[in-house]
Parts: sequence; C-alpha cells; structure tokens
Amino acid sequence: MMKLRIGYRWKNTTVLGPGRRFVIWVQGCRRRCYRCTAPELQSEEGGAEVSCSDLAKEILDTPQIDGITISGGEPLLQAEALTELLDIILSQKPDLTVILFTGFQIEEITDEKSLRLLRQIDLLIDGEYIDELNYDNIGLRGSENQRLIFLSDRLLSFQEELTKGERKREIHLLNPNELLTIGIATRQNN
Ligand code: SF4
Repeated sequence: MMKLRIGYRWKNTTVLGPGRRFVIWVQGCRRRCYRCTAPELQSEEGGAEVSCSDLAKEILDTPQIDGITISGGEPLLQAEALTELLDIILSQKPDLTVILFTGFQIEEITDEKSLRLLRQIDLLIDGEYIDELNYDNIGLRGSENQRLIFLSDRLLSFQEELTKGERKREIHLLNPNELLTIGIATRQNN
C-alpha cells in the first residue's frame, strides 16, 4: 500500500470548486515560482506521510461532500500514490468529482503515471503560477495563464462560475496558534 506525503487536508470547503469538497494539499514542489503562494509546501521532506488506504477511508467517511480537490505543492510528483487513493475512493463513491491543480502544462504531461492519474480527474487547472498575471481576482486559478481544462463533462455545468466567478476565501482556526486560509490567493501588493 502506497503512502502520500501531504501538507494539509480539510474535510469540507466550499471555495475550491463546486459544492462541498475534501481538499488535500500535497507536500513537495520543485518549482520556485516568484511569490509562491505556499512556500511551506515546497520541501519534499516536510508535511506528513499518510497511507493511501487510511486517507481514502477518511474521505469516504466524510459525509455530504461532492468531491475532492487536490492542490499543493505539486501533485504530479506523487501521481502514483494519488492514483491509488482515487482508485479506492472512486470505486466506492463514483459520483465524487475530482479537481486537480498542477504547475505543469497539460502538453508537458506525457509520463504514464501522470496520464493514468489524469484519467480520474474531471477538471485540471494547469500551468505555473506567474505572480504578475494574478490580477483579476476571478476564476479558480491563481494567474491568468493557468487554464481550466475539463477532462470530463461532469463539472461542465459549472464552467461559467469556475472561470468567471469571483474568488472566495475561508479562514479556519487549526489550533490556538495556527490559521488555515483556503481559496485562491489574491496578489500581494508589496
Ligand atoms: S507550483 Fe505552487 S507550490 Fe510550487 S513553487 Fe509554484 S506556487 Fe509554490
């Protein structure tokens, strides 16, 4: 059974795709985007390992969710483990939709492990984060170069809202000393 290294997870957000979604931020990214929106997720040694079966069970046991959103970090660095995770989940709850963010452009994704993962994804948001192109505060993407690519028709009815809707943010208290902010960040003007 494979393990996945993740930074954070949150059971129930409404700001990273349609409906209520379980969101996973995978740990590890080799890009160094200017003004990276999640620098604490870059280290491939950070975060914590969780077995795919334990995480799948946690997601399957979460009531009233419509889907899963996978962000990071760079999910494609752990494509095999994510495929295993989604295999378990979707074999039991095939109606859950899956959204995945990657810093790669879809044309660059050619290795078999990543392609296998993409077959389980309904909406891919692709391309690297470019801070100077983060200016319009709309859509489920960090910068204007990133594309929303619908790999199935299951989220197509939300296309207008996902591409043109105003971004929303949630702030949760993880513990008395730590806040978790969820949602696409607006550009910092400093
Ligand atoms: S892809 Fe995301 S996590 Fe990786 S360096 Fe860029 S902004 Fe940061």
